[in-house]
Amino acid sequence: MSPNNVQNDTHDSKRAKSSSGRPVSAATSASNGKTEEAKRKESSAIYKPKFSDSLSRVNNFSIIESTLREGEQFGNAFFTTEDKIKIAKALDDFGVEYIEITSPAASEQSRQDCITICNLGLKAKILTHVRCHMDDARIAVETGVDGLDVVIGTSSYLREFSHGKDMEYIIKQATEVITFIKSKGLELGVNRVGIADTVGCANPRQVYELVKTLRSVVSCDIECHFHNDTGCAIANAYAALEAGATHIDTSILGIGERNGITPLGADKEYVMNKYKLSQLREVENLIADMVSIQVPFNNYITGYCAFTHKAGIHAKAILNNPSTYEILKPDDFGMTRYVSIGHRLTGWNAVKNRVQQLGLILTDDEVKEVTSQIKQLADLKPLGVEEVDTLLRNFHQKVNTPLNE
Ligand SMILES: [Zn+2]
Repeated sequence: MSPNNVQNDTHDSKRAKSSSGRPVSAATSASNGKTEEAKRKESSAIYKPKFSDSLSRVNNFSIIESTLREGEQFGNAFFTTEDKIKIAKALDDFGVEYIEITSPAASEQSRQDCITICNLGLKAKILTHVRCHMDDARIAVETGVDGLDVVIGTSSYLREFSHGKDMEYIIKQATEVITFIKSKGLELGVNRVGIADTVGCANPRQVYELVKTLRSVVSCDIECHFHNDTGCAIANAYAALEAGATHIDTSILGIGERNGITPLGADKEYVMNKYKLSQLREVENLIADMVSIQVPFNNYITGYCAFTHKAGIHAKAILNNPSTYEILKPDDFGMTRYVSIGHRLTGWNAVKNRVQQLGLILTDDEVKEVTSQIKQLADLKPLGVEEVDTLLRNFHQKVNTPLNE
C-alpha cells in the first residue's frame, strides 16, 4: 500500500463522519447536485476551444497501453507472469483499446508470457513491440498477438552509433518485415505509422508541427510515443492529438525507460464515458506496489494532495462551489475532496464547515473565536485532524456549558 491510500482513506473516513452529522455544505449536499453540475458545465465551457477544429482528435483517440512493454523497461520493474496477468486484466477492465507487451524475442519467459496474455481472451487487442528484423517478426507472429509495432531508429545518431545502417537499408529492411507481417494477416504493418520521441527532447509546438505535416502526407492512423525527460510527455501527447494523431502510448504512472513516458490518466468528457476512470487510483497502486515506488504526492488527479485545499480563501470558495478551484471532479476518479484546516492559513468558513460536519452548533462569532485559537496553536506546529476535532469539541462543550454547573 502506498501512503496515497492511507491519506485518502483518512479523507474517506472524514466523509463518512460528515454523512452522520448535519448537512455538510451547499457544495456537497445531494439536493444541490443539479445546480452544482450546471455551474460546473458553465464554468468549464470557457476552457473549450471557441471554434471547432477538424484536425483535432482530442475527442476521438485510442490508448496503446504499454506498461507491459515500456513499463518493463523501468529501472525497478520485474513483472512475474502473475503480475503481467493482473496488469493486463486491470488495463482491459479500465477500458484501454490496446495492450502492448514486451517482444517475445527478448527472452524465453517473455515469449511464454506473450502467449499467456494472448490467451486470456481480453477485449483489448494485444500488440507486441519488435525490432524491425525478420527473426523477431517470425517469433512474434506465432504467439497469437493481434498486431505488431515494428521499431527501427532512424535518427542520424542511431544510424551512426546504434545499428549502423543507412536509410536505404532501413527502407529495404522495413519493407521486407512489413510485407511478411501483412502476409500473416496481422493488424498494423503499415496500417499505422508511429512517431517516437524516445529521447524526450520534443516540445508541444514541435510535436504539433511534425504530426500536422505527417497528417498531410499519410491517411492512415498515427501513433505517438513521448518520453518525459523534460516533463513534456502529457503536453506533447495533447499537442499530437490536436494535430491529428489517433493513438497515444501510455504506461501506468508513466513508468518506462529512464523517467518514463506519458502516464495513463485522463481528463474531460470524452474519456469519462470511455474508460473506467474511478479505477485509475487502484490500477496505479497495483503498479506502484509491484515496482516498489510511491505514487508522487503531487501526481495529477490521484496524488494525495490533488483535491486537498488549504488556504482560507480557497477553502471558502470551494465550499460554496467546487468549480472555483477544481477543474476536475474528485468523484469521477474515485477520489474525495479534503479541506485542510489545522494550519495557520486556515479561514473561519472552512472551520465552520468542519464544525457542521461534526454536528456541533456554534455561532459565526464563536467559529471565528475558535479559528483564532487554531491559528495560534498552528503557529507553533501544524495540527492533525484529530487534534483539531478535539479542540472544536472542547470549545463547543465550553461555550455550551452554563457557568454555574
Ligand atoms: Zn519508449
